[in-house]
Amino acid sequence: MTNNCQVVWDNCLHIIKRSVPPQSYQTWFEPIQPVQLENSVLTIAVPNRLFYEWLEENFVQVLRTSILQVLGQNGRLRYCILNSSNAHRSIPANKESSASVAVAEPPMVPGTFDIEKIKDPRIIPGIRRDKVASNLNPNYTFDLFIEGDCNRLARNAGLAVAKKPGGTAFNPLFIFGNVGLGKTHLAQAIGNQIVQQSPDKLVLYVSAEEFTNQIIQAIKKNDVNAFVNFYQSLDVLIMDDIHFLGGKQKTQEIFFFLFNQLHQSGRQIILTSDRAPRDLEGIEDRLISRFRWGLSADLQAPDLETRMAILSHKLERAGVKVNHSVLEYICYNIKDNVRDLEGIMVTLLAQSMLMSREVDLELAKSAILNFIKSPSRGITIEAIQNLVAEHFNVPVKCLSEEGRKRSLVVPRHVAIYLCKQLTNHSLKAIGKAFGGRDHSTILYSCRTVQDMMDTDPTFRANVEELEKKVKMSLMH
Ligand code: ADP
Ligand code: MG
Repeated sequence: MTNNCQVVWDNCLHIIKRSVPPQSYQTWFEPIQPVQLENSVLTIAVPNRLFYEWLEENFVQVLRTSILQVLGQNGRLRYCILNSSNAHRSIPANKESSASVAVAEPPMVPGTFDIEKIKDPRIIPGIRRDKVASNLNPNYTFDLFIEGDCNRLARNAGLAVAKKPGGTAFNPLFIFGNVGLGKTHLAQAIGNQIVQQSPDKLVLYVSAEEFTNQIIQAIKKNDVNAFVNFYQSLDVLIMDDIHFLGGKQKTQEIFFFLFNQLHQSGRQIILTSDRAPRDLEGIEDRLISRFRWGLSADLQAPDLETRMAILSHKLERAGVKVNHSVLEYICYNIKDNVRDLEGIMVTLLAQSMLMSREVDLELAKSAILNFIKSPSRGITIEAIQNLVAEHFNVPVKCLSEEGRKRSLVVPRHVAIYLCKQLTNHSLKAIGKAFGGRDHSTILYSCRTVQDMMDTDPTFRANVEELEKKVKMSLMH
């Protein structure tokens, strides 16, 4: 069987090799190991989650083509992620990827707790523990959660709770902070550590939204008792994004009951929220006061040093080498959110691969532009005129003059177009800056450029390049 899967994978590689640049092939396909072939489902092992996401985002099509060619119409691909000891974890392929092709999602994506399980007579009463999924993402571990001043209290409290669930004063442990700062990661790291230490403990990770949906289903099916029984039997309840319960009275009522039951019997409760307990809206006071029984620990935006540590750690795991000055540049510019930090890294690697060039500072600068929401602040009409004139090698003053020479008309249209796109100036103000043209002339320029971009890819690339240059000129 092993041989078989090797042969199949080799054939796939043969096809893939023809369709991707050599550097990408080496980086993203050579490290893959075929693991199993069963009923036309080929399982491949990838080094880590980032690697998997990368493949899904960038190579889903070529993977699909190769699998279908080699295994036929029923061909499917499953991933498994190698853990540090190089043993692989098998993955249920019950979900197709977002591109709705024959590629399965890995298991680390927290699954949904299936309410049907509660009705399973083998589970209730006296739950069959091995039947219940914790919904934990195995990639969210303490090892991978880099410590910094921004998260020290929360991380250490989490470690203490993981060591002695229900046995510390930190019950509940209430982790709060802005989006993308690691609440879900930390909460799940606690769960993962507990499961690893004590496999017999029943740990459940559930988002408050999912919990609410389960209650709605249970009410519909007249199953609330079974639902409550199940939750009461947990040793550790991790509920993510508890602020979602705001305004949901019935859910809060059931949660209040469960909270008390679990807490009284010394079970551990871990909650996360986008704000401190006292700032929660639409949540009953009696719940808020219970949230404050244990420890509330916040996650702050990481400082430069921590951002650097997080990013370089992630790159190292992905087996990608990036120059120190590039790392510094990214971490210097992306300040508030670890998720964005990861996003930019993936964008950067993608661009480097697409263009078959090194990840250098120039590339980092342009990748960062995708993460800047409103570039309009600080960009002036004058700056645009200067850059456009320089780009087309024409004198700046010609942009504002009359004259129908094509070598001047195109730069003028482009400059006007960019002013409209990248600044908040009115048509009138733009017209004034271009030699007193009226607003319909400005609109005409914009439409012309848009039309040319739609029909001429080289022209489009040129304009987009200029657009980037303008935005970049702001960042030093
Ligand atoms: P939140 O739940 O607060 O919105 P997440 O837990 O989803 O944030 O974190 C967003 C991303 O940032 C995740 O991929 C997570 O692994 C990563 N992350 C956040 N903080 C850290 C950290 N201290 N070390 C390593 N990765 C982190
Ligand atoms: Mg989260």
